[in-house]
Amino acid sequence: MKTVIGNWKMNVGTRESVALARGVLLALRGKKAIPETVVCPPFTALAEVRKIVARTHVALGAQDLFWEDSGAYTGEISARMLAEHGVSHVIVGHSERRALFETDEMAGKKAAAALVAGLTPVICVGETAVERKAESQAVVVKRQLVAALSPLKAKGKDRVLVAYEPVWAIGTGEPATPNDAVAMHAFIRGFIAESFPSLTKRAQVLYGGSVDGTNAYAFLREKEVDGVLVGGASVKMKEFGDVLSAACEVIEKQGV
Ligand code: PEP
Repeated sequence: MKTVIGNWKMNVGTRESVALARGVLLALRGKKAIPETVVCPPFTALAEVRKIVARTHVALGAQDLFWEDSGAYTGEISARMLAEHGVSHVIVGHSERRALFETDEMAGKKAAAALVAGLTPVICVGETAVERKAESQAVVVKRQLVAALSPLKAKGKDRVLVAYEPVWAIGTGEPATPNDAVAMHAFIRGFIAESFPSLTKRAQVLYGGSVDGTNAYAFLREKEVDGVLVGGASVKMKEFGDVLSAACEVIEKQGV
């Protein structure tokens, strides 16, 4: 199974989110084989987008959460509140949040809270340009994975998505090469198998960073790439439609 996630960030309001959600359904209409598709609008648009994607193959995701269930945490949104809104996936530890608001440990608490509430965490990891230049990407990603996965107690049907998102590729128009992505995905998979064996079968590894309609196929056709997390291109309907079509084509050709 291939997964395509659109992270709409703070780029769209409710009206545009509803239009995008309709566009996603249209792009998938009539396709024989479709990827697991998740759209992540801003919090304020969740309720309206939910109405559009309810009872379809498109799932609703959120862009963040807080780890406590309830209480005096002004401005925060808990996993339980998201679940109440029909949310099934939640992005955790996005590099834009790590840069401004949160630590590796906070990402771990958020991922654990997501699982407890029955949500699938999409845990983002990835090195900066400076770290890549110093060839420390493996060390950085390992540190982020340990912090994010150690608090998890996955059980039953719980799933965890890990998105390898090199920071230097996010929003720059300069994606990693598929070969770079494959190498890091293999590393991530190997590390999870060795250090978190109970998560091996539950964890899928997605690539994110300047994925668009023209390069999505090259990533998605790789066996090591379970899917893509798309930012900028996911709010351009034609681009995102092309990403979804690329995923459909790979699934049809490879039967995955
Ligand atoms: C992201 O924000 O997760 C992302 C991958 O952004 P972009 O596709 O714009 O690089």
